Amino acid sequence: MTTRITHLIGGRSWEGSSERTGDVSNPASGTVTGRVDLASAELAGDAVATAKAAWPGWAGASLAKRAQVLFAFRELLNARKHEIAALITAEHGKVLDDALGEVTRGLEVAEFACGIPHLLKGGFSENVSTKVDVYSIRQPLGVVAVISPFNFPAMVPLWFIPVAIACGNAVILKPSEKDPSAAVAIARLWTEAGLPDGIMNVVHGDKEAVDALLTHPDVRAVSFVGSTPIARYVYETGTAHGKRVQALGGAKNHMLVLPDADLDLTADAAVNAGFGSAGERCMAISALVAVDTVADELVEKIKDRMSKLRTGDGTRGCDMGPLVTRQHRDKVAGYVEEGLDAGATLVVDGRDGEFDGGEDGFWLGPTLFDHVTPDMSIYRDEIFGPVLSVVRVKSYDEGLNLINANPYGNGTAIFTNDGGAARRFQNEVEVGMVGINVPIPVPVSYYSFGGWKNSLFGDTHAHGTEGVHFFTRGKVVTSRWLDPSHGGLNLGFPQND
Ligand code: NAD
Repeated sequence: MTTRITHLIGGRSWEGSSERTGDVSNPASGTVTGRVDLASAELAGDAVATAKAAWPGWAGASLAKRAQVLFAFRELLNARKHEIAALITAEHGKVLDDALGEVTRGLEVAEFACGIPHLLKGGFSENVSTKVDVYSIRQPLGVVAVISPFNFPAMVPLWFIPVAIACGNAVILKPSEKDPSAAVAIARLWTEAGLPDGIMNVVHGDKEAVDALLTHPDVRAVSFVGSTPIARYVYETGTAHGKRVQALGGAKNHMLVLPDADLDLTADAAVNAGFGSAGERCMAISALVAVDTVADELVEKIKDRMSKLRTGDGTRGCDMGPLVTRQHRDKVAGYVEEGLDAGATLVVDGRDGEFDGGEDGFWLGPTLFDHVTPDMSIYRDEIFGPVLSVVRVKSYDEGLNLINANPYGNGTAIFTNDGGAARRFQNEVEVGMVGINVPIPVPVSYYSFGGWKNSLFGDTHAHGTEGVHFFTRGKVVTSRWLDPSHGGLNLGFPQND
């Protein structure tokens, strides 16, 4: 028995029949549990038209009204977070605690957006010229699209949607077709919170739906998160069609360990950041860069900790779940083979092992490689699985150069007790989010999230004040209330006096 997962347009489930559908699986059992409708370009266009028709009413809603809806949404999301976490675990595979953690981080963006009256305050200058005032305002864009990846089915949409809605826009969300149910459940909460129909819509689909949104003249902005090749494509196509685009891409996150670091705490951090969510996090640590003498001892400590990890069904209190699809599991396992062929030392092989879940689940246990070199595919590529590579370097400078030469620049961390070295690193490293003894430095909601280089195309990062900027456009008003002193003819360029 499979569930049908369909679009939510204008506050209602779509009732048509779909020519194309996609399978949604439970990764811990390997069984198909749902079929998701995949939108045609025409249907995506209908959703845009619905959002466009609803938009003026919401754009004109007072800031007080918008804040009320945001607060109500925040309360509902908090009340339903366990249900949503269960949906995530059932379709993504990550363990329940981790799923709850992602909903909580998304909730924080809703809390940030509750402060929208303050965030949208403009500037005012009285008497810039005699009896002339100037003030700035920020206005909504119109219909905006959010296109999200499989690995954070709740948090990534929530990076954008509360801010977009609070700013007065209408949203079309195109979630990942691999785990779409959490997005629908969250979208329904907006209706319960009092958001007018048509302001929050969900269109499921694949390339056809994405292309329709990227080229539709009534879509004003696109927030995309996914792999680097698709992010680049989305950025190039969307901007070529006149849209504002922020496209967050893939990652290869390095953790630089200096010889003075506390190796027990560092090993804990490396295991947590390397294998949490089975390595399917854009901020996962996938390359551990060990400086000078630390490598042997650190590898032993990591290996010891890995032997205690339990991989299994996310509902059973395990540490790590399966990978999202069989195809992805096989791709990651293929990298383990490539690492061996290239001459890296396989310290722990995740292909062996016992898994606490269904026989047909998409299992791969935590895997550790040592003596990895930058030419190997396991270093070069974003594997997006539970594979941690140790690269040995002789000095801080060699480690820094390695990180800066990498085409990705999402997150990085340094582990050290030397404040001066840490400070140098934060200044010199060419990466957007930096942790100092913090392995996964995801910024809080009132700062902005985003990487550098091939990890982000566009100028603006997600949420925080950059998010408010992305979802609004500025206007500056110069005003005077005419009195006799303003009379007379003068064809010169206006000057202030
Ligand atoms: P993906 O690129 O395969 O898919 C992302 C979205 O793009 C999905 O909605 C998908 O339906 C759509 N899509 C897929 N192929 C497309 C195509 N050919 N044309 C148009 N649209 C297409 O990514 P994924 O596998 O779902 O997610 C994992 C990736 O996302 C990793 O690379 C990860 O690093 C990245 N990610 C990055 C961040 C970040 O903040 N930088 C955050 C989360 C995930």
